[in-house]
Amino acid sequence: MEADTITAISTPIGEGAIAIVRLSGKEAIQITAKVFKGKDLLNVDSHTINYGKIINPETKELVDEVMVSIMHAPKTFTREDVVEINCHGGMVAVNRILDLLLSNGARLAEPGEFTKRAFLNGRIDLSQAEAVMDLIRAKTDKAMNVALKQMDGRLSGLIQRLRQDLLETVAHVEVNIDYPEYDDVEEMSHEMMRTKTKEVHAEIEKLLEVAKQGKILREGLGTAIIGRPNVGKSSLMNTLVQENKAIVTEVPGTTRDIIEEYVNVRGVPLRLIDTAGIRETEDIVERIGVERSRQVLKESDLILFVLNYNEELSEEDIRLFEAVKGLEYIVIVNKTDLEKKLDLEQVKELAHGKLLVTTSLLQEEGINELEKAIANTFFSGEIDAGDMTYVSNVRHIQLLNKAKKALEDAMEGIELGMPLDIVQIDVTRTWEFLGEIIGDTASDSLIDQLFSQFCLGK
Ligand code: GDP
Ligand code: ZN
Repeated sequence: MEADTITAISTPIGEGAIAIVRLSGKEAIQITAKVFKGKDLLNVDSHTINYGKIINPETKELVDEVMVSIMHAPKTFTREDVVEINCHGGMVAVNRILDLLLSNGARLAEPGEFTKRAFLNGRIDLSQAEAVMDLIRAKTDKAMNVALKQMDGRLSGLIQRLRQDLLETVAHVEVNIDYPEYDDVEEMSHEMMRTKTKEVHAEIEKLLEVAKQGKILREGLGTAIIGRPNVGKSSLMNTLVQENKAIVTEVPGTTRDIIEEYVNVRGVPLRLIDTAGIRETEDIVERIGVERSRQVLKESDLILFVLNYNEELSEEDIRLFEAVKGLEYIVIVNKTDLEKKLDLEQVKELAHGKLLVTTSLLQEEGINELEKAIANTFFSGEIDAGDMTYVSNVRHIQLLNKAKKALEDAMEGIELGMPLDIVQIDVTRTWEFLGEIIGDTASDSLIDQLFSQFCLGK
């Protein structure tokens, strides 16, 4: 257990009115008691909520009316003593309470430090710890659900099951080889290995498939708005921000709020890329050339390409069409309230079947259709995070890919009829990569596990 007591404001995401100050550590209750007026917190039962007042012990000044939750170790998130102070008085009061706790012996927590303690104290495994970190950074409700699911241990559970499958298969094969009852034991073991590795391989592929969506939900779709000068790019930006309440995330564990602006279009989080040269790309192609601008545009997940209904297609528009070829984009023909000068048939041809939406941003027309198009570009219909176990973490994705590769090596060996003790080297590697996802690594080797679970080699 860490020696010092940490504290931080942990305001629930999206909830402006309530605020919670949390403490964790040996002195959590003592420190709170110093600034609390009400019941004697040192003597209340664990897991109780206590009404009272926060008072500045020096000036006796009332700071706020509060509800204080007292939770004794080890049945807490961090497995240390934990106190949560629910404040009524809004952010000003919260900050004053935090200051009081700091001047009475607590230390300001680093971002994620509560979670780190939970991990170090064995309360959660690594993938759960990472899920909490994702939760802290979650930008939308859906991304938050994904993080919550993962925290629930669904991913961990699935990974553990796959590992157990591999482990049992290896054990089985070992038994067959050590205690041959049939002459064709080698062949039977090969068959068993073939079936099991195929099954696990399919599961890993499924996880990797949903990984992309998970990543998008967590980080937002990097979205670039491009088009010639004056077509309505800034207007589009403003419309999207106004129509879709920008999401402001307060990051718990920091006193200074890290505020990020995202727009949430029908459950799809857009991260409007605000890099000079992308959002205002009036002359990006001309300036840096088709190839380089493609390179820049490639880094966005979605491109909103705006054209002017009131102007004929220009050379520059055609260059932009070249620059976005093969990328994910939606064509927006804006200013439909003005006289038609654009050849829409020509535009459709250039757009190669990509979605085309007509708008008059000035008269607020076509915005619904645009939002639908954005949602449909990435997800067929509304996404339901409830159905899937998301893999939303870059490290997890890398490890899954490594596990998949190792498993494929094993499968190749099986097809080539290689001896099973050679094949098992790759199966073991698969098992280890999967283990790294949940933070259960080489310290316990597969062989140790075999011994402890199946008492082989006696
Ligand atoms: P940007 O240069 O591409 O960022 O274009 P802006 O968003 O700054 O818009 C250029 C001008 O076109 C502004 O005066 C807007 O008010 C106007 N504008 C934007 N959308 C429309 C529209 O749908 N119809 C009309 N008539 N004017 C528009
Ligand atoms: Zn502009």
